[in-house]
Amino acid sequence: MQVQINKLKTPNRTIRNFCFECVCKSSWDDVEECGGIELDGIMCAFHKYRMGKGRVPVKTFRKFCLHCMGYNRELVRDCTTKDCLIYPYRMGKNESYSSLSAQNFTKNKTTLLDQKINL
Ligand code: SF4
Repeated sequence: MQVQINKLKTPNRTIRNFCFECVCKSSWDDVEECGGIELDGIMCAFHKYRMGKGRVPVKTFRKFCLHCMGYNRELVRDCTTKDCLIYPYRMGKNESYSSLSAQNFTKNKTTLLDQKINL
């Protein structure tokens, strides 16, 4: 999956926006006052991060998606809801870091090859 880095929101921003949508975009006060307990009695994985504070482990998104899909890993992997804010993080990875790592690897490999040629 190719994700454009400049379009990918940070994990904190993603959760903030998701929580705002979750309260039907009514108000930020509603996000703050949210109790976090879902209909099935399980605490929402995002509740702790709803105010945009704290470092969000990307595994939090994976946990959320697994809950969304009834703990079926294949359904999370094959999720087609690409307009869901969580979608880029559903596999528990930060695509922007993955893309940057791939770019750095290619850049470093090219530099090493150049150095070998110049020897
Ligand atoms: S990306 Fe898919 S699995 Fe994850 S929360 Fe959204 S709809 Fe559910």
